[in-house]
Formats: sequence, structure tokens, C-alpha cells
Amino acid sequence: MSACDVAIVGTGPNGLAAGVVLARAGLRVELYEGAETIGGGLRTAPLFDSGVVHDLCAAVHPMAAASPFFRAFGLAARGVELLHPEISYAHPLDGGRAALAHRSLAATCEHLGPDGPRWRQLMVPLLEHSEGVADLLLSGQRRLPRDPVAALLLARRVAVHGSGLGAAHFRGEEAAALLTGVAAHAVGRLPSPAGGAVAMLLGHLAHGTGWPLPRGGSGRIAEAMAQDITAHGGVFHTGHRVTDLAQLGRVRAVLLDTAPKGFLALAGDRLPRSYARGLERYRYGPGAAKVDFLVSEPIPWSDPAVGRAGTVHLGGTRAEMVRQETANARGVRTAEPFVLLVDPAVTDPGRALPGKRPVWAYAHVPNGDATDPYDLVRARIERYAPGFGDTVIDHRSTSAAAYEAYNPNYVGGDIGSGAMTLRQSLARPVPRLDPYRTPLPGVFLCSSATPPGPGVHGMSGCLAALSALRHRFGIRDLPSLSPKSDSPEFGRPG
Ligand SMILES: Cc1cc2nc3c(=O)[nH]c(=O)nc-3n(C[C@H](O)[C@H](O)[C@H](O)COP(=O)(O)OP(=O)(O)OC[C@H]3O[C@@H](n4cnc5c(N)ncnc54)[C@H](O)[C@@H]3O)c2cc1C
Repeated sequence: MSACDVAIVGTGPNGLAAGVVLARAGLRVELYEGAETIGGGLRTAPLFDSGVVHDLCAAVHPMAAASPFFRAFGLAARGVELLHPEISYAHPLDGGRAALAHRSLAATCEHLGPDGPRWRQLMVPLLEHSEGVADLLLSGQRRLPRDPVAALLLARRVAVHGSGLGAAHFRGEEAAALLTGVAAHAVGRLPSPAGGAVAMLLGHLAHGTGWPLPRGGSGRIAEAMAQDITAHGGVFHTGHRVTDLAQLGRVRAVLLDTAPKGFLALAGDRLPRSYARGLERYRYGPGAAKVDFLVSEPIPWSDPAVGRAGTVHLGGTRAEMVRQETANARGVRTAEPFVLLVDPAVTDPGRALPGKRPVWAYAHVPNGDATDPYDLVRARIERYAPGFGDTVIDHRSTSAAAYEAYNPNYVGGDIGSGAMTLRQSLARPVPRLDPYRTPLPGVFLCSSATPPGPGVHGMSGCLAALSALRHRFGIRDLPSLSPKSDSPEFGRPG
């Protein structure tokens, strides 16, 4: 069927990143997407017939702003404007209080009272080595760190904040809640090494390259990537779910932006038994259950400063989040789960129309939970913003179970395509020197089920593409990804 060099199955940020690298290396690339539109977790679409667009999955992009792939790809030069809220993230607490992570480290520390100097001490060395920290945590984790000081700083901090030792680090509730809310992005038991690493990465980025939102929505990132692929000869097939690798015809390489469960469905009977068993043992984490709201006015937060934040964590105190996240990871539903909320019009006023504004919020729930999250999420917001419910014009719920139907990579609603346990943070999806290469000749995995894991960073796709270039085409170097080089750097390899 195919006369191309490479077939890519799935067009999430990782499939697209792989497409950019391979098309720029001069290969003929075709991309297959099961949904009617490209983008995977990077889709923005109108809902409720209101003229307002909503980010269906990812909305906030600290990892895209910091990742080596996107730094080289150059989003700004391609017209994707990353907008930075004055407050990267906020964490409301009872009694009308809120902890605030300003983009400005000084402003953050000023409001943390006696914990201000401790926050500064935690963040400043990471900020001084920010590129090294991002390169290490957003890499394939298979080579020696380029910045050994960054590795040392991280190791010491993760040992404390990824364990029970972190509980004694801050004196007040605010700073502890602020950091734990970021650790909760790892979606699993807390405290944990993965949570500690995520807290250090995203926590320091909040004061560095930031937690930006693309003007107009996340779909803009996918569009820029797709344009680059098309400009380099790539071809997209949407509405085309691949159910067997044989459907891809004779190609020299196949890259799969799929979860291990999807890979097993595509090729399970052809895989060596030991590798297939490894994929079967791969564990999926808790789920996300999301509500897209259309509201009539800005959220009436008890502390109005929260309304200047792009992202809001609703989880209460550190102890409460530890309880919620740990119960959730054990499959126990909690009455007050951790909720992440994004109000994009705070940063991007063009996202709102008169009397209509999009709000995005999801709760962490047990894997596979099919409950409609509307009441849970609305109550969680109302606790810190009484009267919020009265501003809701319309809403759309997506339960954790429904997320898998929307995107097969989100198994049981696990938006990370695999639990961030210590083992699976270091060795995704199975322990191998080259985690992207599979035992099937020419077949590579490139989804967030490979290192560095979840998030919009494009690094799994980029590193899988590099592995394919090296092993299938004898090309050892990454082509230039810069928007300034409009033609591929490589001639078509023999
Ligand atoms: C509600 C939600 C909020 C999120 N918020 C953020 C955020 O704010 N910031 C952030 O960085 N990350 C966020 N994420 C996570 C982020 O979206 C994912 O980590 C990221 O999209 C993973 O990229 P991927 O390319 O590995 O896979 P995906 O984005 O999941 O894309 C995989 C694609 O492959 C397609 N596919 C799978 N199997 C097949 C097949 N057999 N045939 C054809 N097509 C197939 C799917 O339809 C899908 O389009 C969020 C995710 C969700 C769901």
C-alpha cells in the first residue's frame, strides 16, 4: 500500500516530533491518525456551539517551553506565541488564603513568609542550571548528564522531596502545598521519587522558562508541527485507525505513537514472548476525569489573586494531597480528589467572548473510573470559589473510562500512558538499552510510554526518530530543526 520510507502511527506531539525529524532527514514519511483530526493531546476545538474554543487535553506548556526538541524547533519563530501568566500557578487554601507561584521568584518568596528563603534556596540553584535540569529530565536517560552539577542538585532534592523527609522542609502550609501540588502532576502515590522529580522540574520552570499557554490554544503547536512535516514532503491520513502493522505495507521503519496496550494489539502475536510479557506487565496509573466548562464570568475565587494564575491546583494542604493521591493510586475513590484547573482567558483574553469563557478542570480518579466527574469537580472549585456553579452556562464531562475511547493511549483514563512508578520512570515500557527500539526489525515505539514519559515535550518522538535514523538509515546526526532551514539537510539516503 505504501511507497514511503517511514510510517508513523498516531499524531500526538510525539508522533509529530518523530515526523518532523524524519521528514527533515529527507525521508518520505506518512502519518496515520485514528481520529478525524491530528494532534492527540494537542487538540483545540469549539464546544457548546458558543464560538469559544477549548483545549480538549493539554493546555499549559512548561515542558514544551523547556524541551530540547522544541527549543530547536522554535515555536515563536513559527508564529506560535507562548503567553505567560503573571502567576504561573496558584494553590488556594481554606480561609480565603492562597499560595502563589509568581513567574518572579522574588515575588513568590516575598509572600511565603518564613518559608521564602527556603523556597529561594530550593529554586535558585535549579534555575542557574535550568537547561541542564531540563536536558536531564526530558531526555532518554541513557547517557551521562551533560551538566553533572544539575544531576547532583536534582538527586539531593529528589531524595528529600520525593520522600517523607520533605514534610519537615517548610514551616508553613503555603509553601508545602505549593510544592506538593506540582508533585501531584506525576499522578500517583505521594511522596514518591517521580513526584519529587516532577516537582523539581516543573517547580523551577515556573520561575524560569515559565508555564505558558499558546495564544489561541494548544492546537496551534500541533498545526505548526504538521506544517513543517508537510513542507518537508510528509503526508497525513486522518480517520485511519491502524489495526495491524501489515496494513502499513512495505516501509523501512514504523514508529508507533501508541501505548504498550496498542502495540500489543497491533503486533502482539509477532513479538518475542519475553518482550510481549514485559509489555503485558506494564502498569497504567490513575485516571483523569475532565470537565470542560463554559462560564459567564471570571471565576469568583475567595482570594482574587488566584484569578491572575494560568493554572490552579485544588488539593488543600500537603497532608490532604498525600492522602488523596495515595488512595487514588490504590484505586480508592476520594470525595475530594486533586483537581487541576486552567482558565486560559486569564493569559489569553482572546479566548473569551462577551459573557462566555472556557474553563478546563480535571480530577485525579482511579484508573477506569466511569463516574461523571461534574459534581465532584464543581464542588471542588466551589470550595475555593463560592458561587462558581452559578456562572456555569454549559459543561461537558469526560470520565476516565471515556478518555480511553477518545484516545486509546489513555488506558483507563491514564493520561500519562503508564504509571510513573520508580521502575517505569527509569525504564519505560520495558527495561532495554534503547527503549524506543523493539524486537521487531524496523519497528520503534515513540509515545509517552517511552522516556522521558508524559507531557508535551516531543522528546520521546525525537529520540525514537533518532534511533530509527541510526538503525534503519545509517544516519547518526539529528537534522537541523530550525525554522530557518526550509530544505532538509540530508539528501535521500540510499
Ligand atoms: C485532559 C488532559 C490534560 C493534559 N494537560 C497537559 C498539559 O497541560 N500539559 C502537558 O504537557 N501535557 C498535558 N497532558 C498530557 C499530554 O497531552 C500527553 O502526555 C501527550 O499528548 C502525549 O503525547 P503522545 O504523542 O505520546 O500521545 P497522544 O497525544 O496521546 O497521541 C496519540 C495519538 O495516536 C493516535 N493513535 C493511537 N493508536 C492509534 C492507531 N492504532 N491508529 C491510528 N492512530 C492511533 C491517537 O488517536 C492519538 O491522536 C494532558 C492530557 C490530558 C488527557
